[in-house]
Amino acid sequence: MTFSLNTVVLLYLVASICFIQALKGLSHPATSRRGNAFGMSGMAIAVVTTIGLIFKLAPELAGPGLGYVLAGLVVGGGAGALMAKRVEMTKMPELVAFMHSMIGLAAVCIAIAAVAEPWAFNIVAKGEAIPYGNRIELFIGTFVGAITFSGSVIAFGKLSGKYKFRLFQGAPVQFAGQHMLNLVLGLAMLGLGLTFVVTQSWTPFVLMLLIAFVLGVLIIIPIGGADMPVVVSMLNSYSGWAAAGIGFSLNNSMLIIAGSLVGSSGAILSYIMCKAMNRSFFNVLLGGFGNAPAAATTGGSAEQRPVRSGSPDDAAFLLSQAETVIIVPGYGLAVARAQHPLKELTDKLIERGVTVKYAIHPVAGRMPGHMNVLLAEAEVPYEQVFEMEDVNSDFGDTDVVLVLGANDVVNPAAKDPKSPIAGMPILEAYKARQIIVNKRSMASGYAGLDNELFYMDRTMMVFGDAKKVVEDMVKAVE
Ligand code: NDP
Repeated sequence: MTFSLNTVVLLYLVASICFIQALKGLSHPATSRRGNAFGMSGMAIAVVTTIGLIFKLAPELAGPGLGYVLAGLVVGGGAGALMAKRVEMTKMPELVAFMHSMIGLAAVCIAIAAVAEPWAFNIVAKGEAIPYGNRIELFIGTFVGAITFSGSVIAFGKLSGKYKFRLFQGAPVQFAGQHMLNLVLGLAMLGLGLTFVVTQSWTPFVLMLLIAFVLGVLIIIPIGGADMPVVVSMLNSYSGWAAAGIGFSLNNSMLIIAGSLVGSSGAILSYIMCKAMNRSFFNVLLGGFGNAPAAATTGGSAEQRPVRSGSPDDAAFLLSQAETVIIVPGYGLAVARAQHPLKELTDKLIERGVTVKYAIHPVAGRMPGHMNVLLAEAEVPYEQVFEMEDVNSDFGDTDVVLVLGANDVVNPAAKDPKSPIAGMPILEAYKARQIIVNKRSMASGYAGLDNELFYMDRTMMVFGDAKKVVEDMVKAVE
């Protein structure tokens, strides 16, 4: 088979089908491994085909050019593999935000190179002006890429929670006239972009690019606390559209298809997250949804009020006496890596005739599907795992709810219209006959809010690291 352009089209089609199968597979934990395998195969086909395409279109690059491409693959692929191997599950959202920022930056760099030397990208012959259509594509790819880059850098800082810099704090950064400033900058960016389209000159292009970088920051800083999951999926979507925009400029159908798949699946995920958080999709897109009345702080500790506390033995007694138990896992379960002892505890309770269900909130943990992945790792049967809308009506009839390292997702403050998490649907653990909450202290969750659930008469706090506490419960149940 010779490497003709038809072969390229065929291989790109195969890669695209692999990507679609990857998305299908990733939609359920049971098929997610297969989905990943499809994704990796699709990407391998796409990369090898594109390298072949480059050398077919520009055979003069075959010598040193191939060396550069291979060096890029080894360095980039090696760094990616190392980071993926080292990253802890709880740090995944930061890694994802970092990768989105890289996609945005790559789109910007390619666009600058294409404006500087369009003939090198086969857009025009040397010395000719770039056609208007390509200028529009370059303009769109550039500003979406720049917003994605700077927005993702801010999201990375906010998610890591390690940096003292004010813009990287979990709390929303808001100031008077913020939306007006965004609007003015947005219009200026569009105006300069159109000027570039008409004139193909550098000055409006560079100014448009700078404004887009600033806008990326301004869109993300007002968002804090519990709204961050929506930001992650939104930036995911933006990074796809940036790649697709550049695909149009480079006339590369693979980049257009892959970018569109990422862009549209990210948009659908954002929409699902918005519904889960009861937020407006358009407010999210425009960065205006962080306008909670009170600023939330991450990791702040709550005021000192008396709570009822007990030991793992007390908790084990309540659990083994119950007929029905619902377990609510949260971020702390992931931090403690307590999923395996938890599975053991559940098995022992089921052996004793207790009906046990797991209740999953869509934003529990630090990434979409975090708790599902964690429970799947411990081989918890899928039929024991229930999504929020399917389990919420059961809490009122449940003997004991065991909240493990979860906080915001069970916080009744969401029912208070003045709360920063107002309107966010929660797992209604407070309705159960008995509530056991395990965490290490009275510190707040990601949204930085106190939680009334912990002070209720029916609640027993069991303080300690989730893994140790659950292991002790297993021993006590035995
Ligand atoms: P939270 O972050 O609200 O609370 C987790 C709790 O776990 C903390 O209060 C902490 O209390 C406790 N904890 C931490 N380590 C341990 C440990 N080793 N053992 C026992 N407890 C521990 O988690 P939720 O899952 O309830 O909510 C997720 C939050 O994260 C939401 O606000 C969501 O919006 C946000 N978010 C979600 C993302 C997603 O995509 N899912 C992405 C980004 C943010 P203590 O320190 O006292 O132990």
